[in-house]
Amino acid sequence: MIVAKFGGTSVADAAALRQVQAVVSSMADEPGGVIVVLSATAGTTSRLLDIARRAGSGEPFEGDLSDLLQRHQNIATELTGNADCVADLVSACREFAHAVAELGEWNDATLDAFCAFGELLSTTIYHAFRRSSGLASSFVDARRLIATDDRYQNASVDHAGTHVRCSAELLGVCSTGNVIVTQGFIASNHAGMTTTLGRGGSDYSAAIIGACILARQIRIYTDVSGVFTCDPRLVPTALPLRSIGFDEMRDMASYGAKVLHPDTLLPAVSASIPVYVLNTFRPDDRGTCITDQIVTHSEPRGVSVLNDVLKLTVRREIGTLIAQNELVSSSIVLTISSKDTMTICVHASTAQSRSAVDAIAHAHEVRTVPQSIVAVTGQHMSDANTVADVSRCFAAGTDTAQICVVSDTCVIGIVERDDAHACVRSLHEMVIRRQGPGE
Ligand code: ASP
Ligand code: MG
Repeated sequence: MIVAKFGGTSVADAAALRQVQAVVSSMADEPGGVIVVLSATAGTTSRLLDIARRAGSGEPFEGDLSDLLQRHQNIATELTGNADCVADLVSACREFAHAVAELGEWNDATLDAFCAFGELLSTTIYHAFRRSSGLASSFVDARRLIATDDRYQNASVDHAGTHVRCSAELLGVCSTGNVIVTQGFIASNHAGMTTTLGRGGSDYSAAIIGACILARQIRIYTDVSGVFTCDPRLVPTALPLRSIGFDEMRDMASYGAKVLHPDTLLPAVSASIPVYVLNTFRPDDRGTCITDQIVTHSEPRGVSVLNDVLKLTVRREIGTLIAQNELVSSSIVLTISSKDTMTICVHASTAQSRSAVDAIAHAHEVRTVPQSIVAVTGQHMSDANTVADVSRCFAAGTDTAQICVVSDTCVIGIVERDDAHACVRSLHEMVIRRQGPGE
């Protein structure tokens, strides 16, 4: 069994869904079949949330809603010859929005129930497309699969309950040649109300379902060919990695890489199910395998950078207080303690977090220094030779880097913003040199 998840850009329009069809067909011989998990079409979840809020606040929403629904009807018509498959959903979605408008209020439960239409529409269209093309397809509503608590908008999964539900709903329909179509992101609580797993939650859905049915593989199809050695927009010579350890990826994500968040893959990785990141539009590219298995290489393999970092160096007792401060604690990316002092790096990416840090710095009469954190990730990074090599590369880009081994999978340098790019390039050259292309 394979769980194949396709993100918003992979299901954005009729052409993309045809491509999904081609990719899914290539798995036709998979023993036990394929579970296809789809996101809403690109941009739809945000638009639905916006429409629900406007409807509940007495603002106009009709134009936008009609536009969004029409777009889905057009996709359905292009793929199946008419829009019948979405007729019921389209009216239910309209009625829901009008009910919200009439009530004149919305809450998190309303938002969840309303934005579920995004995934319901994309999966309904894809299922109908398969059927109209004469292909096997079973539709399973993900709200019958994933059980959560009541925290609307960002629910926590009840793993035991989900396991029971997945076994009951899926195992009977999993058979070679069959394709089960279901939604990412949406779930339900014990009262049967719709909940969602937080923005970008479809990867998490795929990992949970994969872990429950002990899938052979989980494939996350997106619009890039895997996890790269560095952001190709920063360094055009960046290459996709064939495999990456789970911890390395978590470090990359913490220090600025826009990779899918590895925590969402935890259920799969801890069940030892390999997760592949693949490109829907270039399905023959190898992509990246994310695994928890011990990777034998001892090389730096990825470079990432986090800008908008503010660094404060304070007396240790004050540092401890700052680290506990509610307004900044979630934005702290690094603390380095010595006997008397503490260096705190805060990711001040929003005006709000910047002003919180400024207020704290003012209160304690310390200066904040704008910096970047450049991270090199890999296996056995604390190895002395590796640290020496990394330090040399930092020295090629700046003479003020503060180097710190944060874990066995990550060494970082805190550098001046203006020097960050030169450091990234120099480090990335080392990565490519030591690793060779395509590893
Ligand atoms: N459609 C949801 C979102 O946009 C979930 C996902 O795409 O992963 O956040
Ligand atoms: Mg996503």
